[in-house]
Amino acid sequence: MQKTCKNCKKDFDIRKEDLIFYEQIKVPPPLMCPDCRMQRRIAFRNERTLYKRACDLCKKDGISIYPSKTPFPVYCHKCWWGDGWDPTIYKMDWNKSRPFLEQFLELKNKIPRIALLVIDSINSDYTNNAAENKNSYLIFAAENNEDCMYSRLIHHCKTVLDCVSVYESELCYDCVDCKKCFKCLFSERLQDCIDVLFSFDMRNCQNCILCANGRNLSYCIENIQYTKEEFEKKKAEILNSYESIEKAKEKYKKLRANAVVKYASSVKCNNATGDYMYNCHDGVNLFDVRNSKNCSYVSDGEDPIDCQDVNNMYFNAERCYNVMGSLQSTNCICSVYVLYCNETSYSDSCYNCVNCFGCVGLNKKNYCILNKEYGKEKYQKIKEEVVEQLKNEGIYGEFLPPALSPFGYNETLAKEYFPMDEKGAGEKGFNWQNETSGTYGKETIKEEAMPESIVDVTEDILKEVLVCKDCKKNFRITKSELDFYKRMNLPLPHKDFECRHQDRMSRRNPRRLWHRSCMCELKNHPHDAQKCDVEFETSYSPDRTETIYCETCYQQEVS
Ligand SMILES: [Zn+2]
Ligand SMILES: [Zn+2]
Ligand SMILES: [Zn+2]
Ligand SMILES: [Zn+2]
Ligand SMILES: [Zn+2]
Repeated sequence: MQKTCKNCKKDFDIRKEDLIFYEQIKVPPPLMCPDCRMQRRIAFRNERTLYKRACDLCKKDGISIYPSKTPFPVYCHKCWWGDGWDPTIYKMDWNKSRPFLEQFLELKNKIPRIALLVIDSINSDYTNNAAENKNSYLIFAAENNEDCMYSRLIHHCKTVLDCVSVYESELCYDCVDCKKCFKCLFSERLQDCIDVLFSFDMRNCQNCILCANGRNLSYCIENIQYTKEEFEKKKAEILNSYESIEKAKEKYKKLRANAVVKYASSVKCNNATGDYMYNCHDGVNLFDVRNSKNCSYVSDGEDPIDCQDVNNMYFNAERCYNVMGSLQSTNCICSVYVLYCNETSYSDSCYNCVNCFGCVGLNKKNYCILNKEYGKEKYQKIKEEVVEQLKNEGIYGEFLPPALSPFGYNETLAKEYFPMDEKGAGEKGFNWQNETSGTYGKETIKEEAMPESIVDVTEDILKEVLVCKDCKKNFRITKSELDFYKRMNLPLPHKDFECRHQDRMSRRNPRRLWHRSCMCELKNHPHDAQKCDVEFETSYSPDRTETIYCETCYQQEVS
């Protein structure tokens, strides 16, 4: 079924499978295209914009994803989970004559929100959407790490800095999409590698610099065999100064642009489109998803089953639709951060709830609407009335409107994947945050005066205020960060965390798909013909310079 997106006016397709799903969960088909749907959901997720803000209950200073002025109170972790407040005292009676979402927003704005979303972490105050981290600083969407800094999507890592999507690795710096690596720097798509620098798509390699598509290599530079001594010399040369690293980065860019790539980064997947997928079965538009079954339009998910239009879903989410943020929830729709919930809709920040509708901040409740508890029958009756009203407004099943996000567009992941300025965001109904964290123009050392090599850096740098060469925001070097640079022989960065993060994210493919065909024309391949004719959905846009192969041609050529 073809439809025109209500938001961007582009045509989009609703698949037969999608229609069956909507029928099963009793929602009308969506009014917007998959991209606009994702944009709305992630505009409710502020991962990295942090502010200094005191807890409104215990008054202790702390760090929060909310700035000091918000319509709702903000509580620290201890207070939010403590007995000092009760979310049900804010309960509201459903008023038929007013729009439901207006009442829901009114409730949302009264209920305390938790300062940061952190679970079981030790000495890791500046982390968010994070769990079980130790001695870590500015890491996000991260779990089970120790001594890590300035990273996003890292899991089971030790002492990694400036990484994105890195698993089970140690002593890595500026790496993207790597797994089981040790002492790797400035690289992308490495697996089981040791001491690999400025390299792309390498497996089981050691001591390599500026290599691409390598398998089982050792002591190679630009994919050519060298001796150990030659390798060490080259490595020392590159790491010697900020300037030589920047030059190597330029070389790396060219190497990457000419590399052979598989149409999608997918392992053990079957009948699934998307990118950065592992063990995904039957679904479309999956990005950064692992172990999914029959799910579509999902990003950042682990183990979801029969879900559509969800993101940041972990621990076996089942039959959810239009949900942002969940652990182990089932049958939930149109909600944000519903953890361990079942049959919960239009709710925000609820835990262990069953049959709740339009609720905020509840824990272990049943049959609540706008935080007011009812008997089962009364609950069903009111719920039906609300659904009827939403249907009459033509919005039932659609994700929460952007005005209901507690964040400015520029604070959320939406800005990262769908960049817009204040005016553009405003026109689409998104909020905007004008309060900035951090300072500008307060630097005590100019970029030109920064030491070229780490050898020339003393602990005095910890007292200096640095300035980002891109956005001009001030930043500092922390003690453990400096220790890392010294240990790894890396020069100081000239950009603040956010700009470094943006650079890394730009090395990953976009969350969009194009229909293309395999570019292989190799004569020794089984397709024999002039050119392989396999077609696929790929996140490599047609204007990309890489050589894009289908699974078979890639395996034959690279492995
Ligand atoms: Zn659209
Ligand atoms: Zn507190
Ligand atoms: Zn910057
Ligand atoms: Zn092919
Ligand atoms: Zn081929």
